[in-house]
Amino acid sequence: MAYLNIPESDLPRVVIVGGGFGGIRLINRLVKKDRFQIVLIDKRNYHTFQPLLYQVSSAGLDAGTIAYPLRKTVKRKTDKAFFRMGEALSIDSENHILNLDIGEIHYDYLVIATGSKTNFFGNKQIEQNALRMKSVPQALNIRSLILENFEEATITADKKKRQALLNFVIAGAGPTGVELSGAIAEIRKNVVPHDYIDMDPNEIRIHLIEGQNKVLAPMSAKASKNAQKALESMDVEIHLGEMVESYDGKTVKTKSGLTFDTETFIWTAGVTGAPIPGLKEEAFVNNTNRYRVNVFNQVHGYENIFAIGDIALMEKENYPKGHPMVAQPSIQQGTLLAENLVRIIDQQELEPFKYNDKGTMATIGRNKAVVDLKNAHFSGFFAWFIWMFVHLWFLVGFRNRVGTFLNWTYRYINYDRASRLIMRPFKEHRKELDDED
Ligand SMILES: Cc1cc2nc3c(=O)[nH]c(=O)nc-3n(C[C@H](O)[C@H](O)[C@H](O)COP(=O)(O)OP(=O)(O)OC[C@H]3O[C@@H](n4cnc5c(N)ncnc54)[C@H](O)[C@@H]3O)c2cc1C
Repeated sequence: MAYLNIPESDLPRVVIVGGGFGGIRLINRLVKKDRFQIVLIDKRNYHTFQPLLYQVSSAGLDAGTIAYPLRKTVKRKTDKAFFRMGEALSIDSENHILNLDIGEIHYDYLVIATGSKTNFFGNKQIEQNALRMKSVPQALNIRSLILENFEEATITADKKKRQALLNFVIAGAGPTGVELSGAIAEIRKNVVPHDYIDMDPNEIRIHLIEGQNKVLAPMSAKASKNAQKALESMDVEIHLGEMVESYDGKTVKTKSGLTFDTETFIWTAGVTGAPIPGLKEEAFVNNTNRYRVNVFNQVHGYENIFAIGDIALMEKENYPKGHPMVAQPSIQQGTLLAENLVRIIDQQELEPFKYNDKGTMATIGRNKAVVDLKNAHFSGFFAWFIWMFVHLWFLVGFRNRVGTFLNWTYRYINYDRASRLIMRPFKEHRKELDDED
């Protein structure tokens, strides 16, 4: 057995794969219990705060501000918790072994918290040519490409070529597409006139393409209408009821025949689960790549394997297609599973999961947002203030709260110029820099 340098222990071993919202919450709660040996595994050595990836893509924030070192989650609390950077490749459920690219590890309890990956719905050409935004390296790629396109446009006399450089096309008007197109519109308004004085901001065009007939389809009708109005006021060109069919690296074509010449095509039109191979077919819900879990997050057919967060699909009466793939279900499932794992070793009855929906929000630029709560809806500046407070406060919850909060808010509001340096050119190194989800 390969050596991962984890000591043997009398305590039951919980192996958690994925240091996302669910995995982090689970490990934080479990270490406090002091009843298990815990091993957290992630292919990256940091947690990614995905809700703010679009800020890194649009040069609003430095990458470091939205990433948190996973070793910190295990270091200061206990010598019974370990982190190993490695990719989980397969599960041998008969022998309770997880195979990784760095070796293998035995588990008593396995928790899969691997989240989701970009869904291209089988379109290989788009998968090869479009940019995706699920990880920090991918967000940095988008940021470099936008800035490199601006640089190139300032020295390009050919009008057609310049237009392709300055056309930004985004597929998918869910929260990510809406936030990203709004942020690029803000760059056009607030950054280009200062940083690129020899470029006409009006040449920059932002196209948001959506297959459904509204933006922010999962949110309320009010939120959707307000978001569309806000985007239009920022001159984002919205194309509803349009399905993108192809992108060959030069032109985006839709099913109805619309074409957009562009060097920047960003795909935010869907996600699918990111499972680890090895479990039986019945452990999955058809075509979703998500594990079928019961109300205790146990994967169907396995007593000691659990799945939480985006990768888990728990069918309930009020959530027949599972809970929304957002941070809150992951966090709440992580919290409950920590309690339930203790109940298992104490041979007590388990507590079923009940989702507490705290609402949904999306921001559109730097002073507009939409917020849906259970019985209320806000939009405009007040909604943006709530959005900013919740996100920043949550983000810096991992760090020294007040200092980071103030510093970060200042840089956010004042457009931190350091984020607009092209430190990692993308265009010439695309093949090496393309990052798998
Ligand atoms: C651009 C974007 C914006 C978003 N905005 C919002 C928002 O505003 N509000 C909101 O609530 N939600 C938002 N979401 C969704 C939210 O981020 C996810 O629902 C949430 O991250 C899911 O948490 P998780 O713990 O299931 O997985 P994740 O947070 O995705 O974490 C999964 C972890 O598993 C690791 N991993 C995956 N496979 C392996 C493997 N085989 N081996 C080792 N490690 C592996 C990954 O590196 C990652 O660290 C957004 C998502 C994206 C992509």
